[in-house]
Amino acid sequence: MVGETRVAIIGAGVIGASIARVLSRFENLQVYVLDENYDVGGEASRANSSVIHPGHEEDPDNQPLRAKLCTEGNALWRRWCMELEIPVKWVGELMLFERNEDEKEAEKYVEWAHKNNVAGVRILREEELFEMDSSINRNVKGGVYAPTAGLISPFEAVVALVENAVDNGVRLLTETRVKRIVVRNNVVVGVETSKGLIETDIVINAAGLNADEVSRLAGVEPWFRIKPRKGEYIIFDKEAEPKPSLVLHTMPTPITKGVYASTTVHGNLMIGPTAEDLPYEKKKDTSTSLEGLEHLVKEAGRILCKVPPRSRIIKFFAGLRPEPPDGKWLIKAYSQPYGFINVAGIRSPGLTAAPAIANHVLSLITETYGLRLVEKKGWRPFRRQIACVSEMDYDILEKHISENPDYGEIICFCNNVSRAEVSEAIERMRRIGVKTITFDGVKLRTTAGFGKCQASRCKIRMALLISEATGTPLCNIIMKKSSIGVGGVKTLWTQNKESMKND
Ligand SMILES: Cc1cc2nc3c(=O)[nH]c(=O)nc-3n(C[C@H](O)[C@H](O)[C@H](O)COP(=O)(O)OP(=O)(O)OC[C@H]3O[C@@H](n4cnc5c(N)ncnc54)[C@H](O)[C@@H]3O)c2cc1C
Repeated sequence: MVGETRVAIIGAGVIGASIARVLSRFENLQVYVLDENYDVGGEASRANSSVIHPGHEEDPDNQPLRAKLCTEGNALWRRWCMELEIPVKWVGELMLFERNEDEKEAEKYVEWAHKNNVAGVRILREEELFEMDSSINRNVKGGVYAPTAGLISPFEAVVALVENAVDNGVRLLTETRVKRIVVRNNVVVGVETSKGLIETDIVINAAGLNADEVSRLAGVEPWFRIKPRKGEYIIFDKEAEPKPSLVLHTMPTPITKGVYASTTVHGNLMIGPTAEDLPYEKKKDTSTSLEGLEHLVKEAGRILCKVPPRSRIIKFFAGLRPEPPDGKWLIKAYSQPYGFINVAGIRSPGLTAAPAIANHVLSLITETYGLRLVEKKGWRPFRRQIACVSEMDYDILEKHISENPDYGEIICFCNNVSRAEVSEAIERMRRIGVKTITFDGVKLRTTAGFGKCQASRCKIRMALLISEATGTPLCNIIMKKSSIGVGGVKTLWTQNKESMKND
């Protein structure tokens, strides 16, 4: 391939977004990211445990690629989070056991840590554990301590990656579903999408749960199927105790790393996930269940000194893990069809490994297709976070208000989010190429509507601001996938009818 090479990445989850950022460094690549959703990061990349895993839970013999890229990803996120101002805390984790006989199993993870080059992993016993984190249940006998674990804001990570990639020349096309990979003479020449044909030389399949279908569209790996494995979570309000200072979790099982209890980067206790294999066709089933909730409360009760009462729950949601056969990631560049790359079945620890996966894909591109990539001279590694009123002290807040009075108008009282932040989120969504500004997109970028009242007070104010900024009638404002729903709907309808009468 000579001259400028066109690359289409299918999927704007954390994997597609990380690849886009890495590829945005090169002058002779023209990169597109396509996603069928209204916004980026709408699937597995937003509904997960948010843990940047150390790498000691990956089997170096059975899953060597996962083990290597997980450890490398953990190291890379330290730099990426600084460059992109992604909320993260490097708190360390404890895998806890309640029976002395589990120590043998725990030792396996210390051994894996040595093999995978994960520093500082060791077994701690009772008193040392309780000193480290007073929220641990006193029945716990010991735990595997891994100091390099982190907690990230996964949705903000995807947003930051895409903002930075777009700032460096990548184009994002949302609401664009890939329907066909166009191959001529065994060479990829384009992708047919819901918005028309996009000519391209390389297609990177980072389509999450749908990556098996996309792979088949390219005529490769017909045996490869991705199973949705559901994980439910509970989030408690910010005042609910306990607030673990480390990431705590139960011992892993054959299908999950265990149930986690952690304090999110925004300060809420979160517990989860469950692990339930769904039939292949149920790739949209993110429903939650009473059994799931009860299971989580019971499991969290094993590792926490207490679980807050149910009245403190503010959110109960589920994510779907894209589970590949034998848990093996399929990352491969093909010569038939030439130009097609699978980055498929990226189950946990995909969030952690994303930056390392992106670098790995870069080497596959150069090695398989012999591209000689030219670094952009003016490539910008940095991206600024939206300034949050909730994190400002009075002097800084006063300065912001004097420059823009909208910082003084609070829209979400639970999380102290101002009108200026909501407006900036809308503006940033437009800048990356999001066409439909959703309520969820604004909420997740600002945390407005993410507090104790779960938007029952600010929903209408936020919807009005979106409506004003975009000219969309209030009742047509989209929440996540469908238009604004029950609760606000009556008021919105009435207001809308009134305003229509006045037209
Ligand atoms: C319950 C749960 C807990 C987890 N916990 C952790 C954890 O703590 N730490 C960790 O490291 N990992 C964790 N993971 C794994 C991690 O979340 C995933 O590995 C990662 O998010 C996968 O990212 P992705 O970009 O491949 O997929 P996704 O985020 O699902 O993105 C795929 C994108 O492709 C788009 N798409 C699909 N088909 C098409 C099409 N035909 N045309 C256009 N667009 C399309 C979708 O709209 C979507 O936006 C967890 C996952 C789950 C579900």
